[in-house]
Amino acid sequence: MNAEQIRQQLQERLHRVEERLQAACQRAGRRRQEVTLVAVTKMVSAEVAALLPTLGIVDMGENRPQELWRKAAQLPATIRWHLIGHLQRNKIERTLPLVAWIHSVDSLRLLQALEATARQQQRVVPVFLEVNVSREPSKQGFAPEEMPQVVAALEALQQVRICGLMTLAPLLPDPEQCRPTFAGLRALRDQLQAQVPPPHSLEHLSMGMSNDFEVAVEEGATFVRLGTVLFGGLPAWGR
Ligand SMILES: *Cc1c(COP(=O)(O)O)cnc(C)c1O
Repeated sequence: MNAEQIRQQLQERLHRVEERLQAACQRAGRRRQEVTLVAVTKMVSAEVAALLPTLGIVDMGENRPQELWRKAAQLPATIRWHLIGHLQRNKIERTLPLVAWIHSVDSLRLLQALEATARQQQRVVPVFLEVNVSREPSKQGFAPEEMPQVVAALEALQQVRICGLMTLAPLLPDPEQCRPTFAGLRALRDQLQAQVPPPHSLEHLSMGMSNDFEVAVEEGATFVRLGTVLFGGLPAWGR
């Protein structure tokens, strides 16, 4: 496949995903504009990712900081980068200037380290708190019962702005089986919302991947993170 063929494939896949997003929004009585599609580019080269802005996509996600650094250096500065995977504290300094959102804040230590570096760099960084709703031992994130204590610690944060909660559903064959995880994140948000000190808020829910994004939208997702459904099977062109 050459660049134009890959671009056409991507265009068709985006079109199909768009139809599915719209249908899910309609079923849930929501507006399509409430949901941001983040294209997770970890499976493809910077060259393939660079085709996305020509198709109207400027929100891109990477789960590894080094890969985000690498792609950000090769792509236009107009792209909004989303870090969606674990951030080690020694990578904060280099990552902060590049990201628009961090979806995967999974400890108080990381929150404090982010606050310190954001202050040094005089930046405000919007973040999601990652919650391990499905309680899988292999997953990062706060336990749901830790959250009241986390919310109580937010008052001290000036540069880090909490904007919502994020979760990953278990990998299950039937997306319906993910519904309790997504409904659980939304319920947790509804329960904690009143305790969150402004300017922090829990407005957003980052949930839903290729396998389960329609269910996530039905349960209130405002950010869906899609990789495979957009890029699966495309050649690793440019790698
Ligand atoms: C890879 C990844 C995604 C995208 O997953 P797909 O199933 O390929 O859509 C979403 N979120 C996170 C945190 C990921 O690491």
